[in-house]
Amino acid sequence: MNQAKRYYIATFGCQMNERDSEIMGQLLQESSYSATEVMEQADLIVVNTCSVREKAEQKAYSLLGRLKKLKEKNSALVIAVAGCVAQQDGQRLLNRIPHADLVIGPQKIYDLPTLLLGQKGCKTPEVRTGLSPAFAIPAFLPDVTSGSQFKRFVTIMQGCDNFCTYCVVPYTRGREISRTPGDIVAEVAHLAAAGITEVTLLGQNVNSYGLDKATGAETSDLTHFPDLLRAVAAVAGIQRLRFTTSHPKDLSEALMRCFAEIDTLCPHLHLPVQSGSNRLLKLMNRKYTVEDYLDKIARLRGIRPDIAITTDLIVGFPGETDEDFQATMALLEEVRYHGAFSFKYSDRPPARAIAFADKVAEEIKNDRLARLQKRQEEITLEWNRAYVGRTLAVMVEGCGRTTGEQWSGRAPTNHMVNFAGPSGLRPGQIIMVTISEGGPHSLRGSAVMA
Ligand code: SF4
Repeated sequence: MNQAKRYYIATFGCQMNERDSEIMGQLLQESSYSATEVMEQADLIVVNTCSVREKAEQKAYSLLGRLKKLKEKNSALVIAVAGCVAQQDGQRLLNRIPHADLVIGPQKIYDLPTLLLGQKGCKTPEVRTGLSPAFAIPAFLPDVTSGSQFKRFVTIMQGCDNFCTYCVVPYTRGREISRTPGDIVAEVAHLAAAGITEVTLLGQNVNSYGLDKATGAETSDLTHFPDLLRAVAAVAGIQRLRFTTSHPKDLSEALMRCFAEIDTLCPHLHLPVQSGSNRLLKLMNRKYTVEDYLDKIARLRGIRPDIAITTDLIVGFPGETDEDFQATMALLEEVRYHGAFSFKYSDRPPARAIAFADKVAEEIKNDRLARLQKRQEEITLEWNRAYVGRTLAVMVEGCGRTTGEQWSGRAPTNHMVNFAGPSGLRPGQIIMVTISEGGPHSLRGSAVMA
């Protein structure tokens, strides 16, 4: 009997990529491959790349470069490059990584098993990177026998129509394409039936779900994201619902109200602002002003006072002056985010900002990033300390680092909570925890004993 071929997938970048890697893994298993944790033992290595940040792209290329040695030792090894770098670089990627066998863009991952069959006995690398507005994300029921048994990501749309001037996503993932509500609800019901209790709906801009401007299509009468949220929340067994990512310009009053009206929707919103300067927001093509953004934050907090708000920020965008940067620092004080992911701007071809003048010197970017992160860390710590004395519903994720009855889990606000609790807790169980300490990255407390 032939031994099953083994695959190894290395994933870079965002949650969308993590979900795509899960899909590729499942497709491979359905084609008689089995997973291995040891890259050196694999017959197939898939590198699922991300090009949104320079560092992620460099890391993917660095791994691909190192794979040359494995290929020299084992000429039957198949190396597949998937994701945004594959889409963006296509044939050019093969000049840099001639030992790669397959280059597949985000819309082609479902063809992976077929492409592998075509690889048998064939030494010619293949590039499949088209992006079609007519692409329909296939209905796909996730494998529930492996992976997390209590929480999952569910992709609801791919691509982006916004063309922020620093971002490659519309070029690498194409225009917005929504899955049908029927497929999404069926996937969530399948997960719930298997005991999954938390789902996170994923898309580059979930707020514009169902309004696929490139094709003019509306996916059904459930055209708005709030309607989809309600449909998913109605699936029996789903105890926690989250979503990411949101664009501030598309954050509607109806969506804000969901935070008060849907019991299972967790009070956490990641709302990337990118800059506190209206001049830069315009250059970034973000299509809102700081005033619009602050108005939405105030309304949201009026609707759901306990909501935790996090954001993304870019420092050193071309033309950013000290004054612009100070405006971003002032925004931190005004909003007081629970947390922020902050990055230095880097050119990401073919995004338009690559041609913008007045690039900011690296040392200035470093200095601004350090100042911004330091202040945000202080604000995050202040928020975390403010939870001391409160009792939160924590979904158990696993054992803490220390031995004994130490556990870790997530609060509805997405805070990581480490806590002392009884033995025998299981992942996915929700337990009340009284917070005794707020640290820089997590909360600490003790389970409330009945
Ligand atoms: S909204 Fe802007 S930053 Fe986000 S994926 Fe779309 S183009 Fe990129």
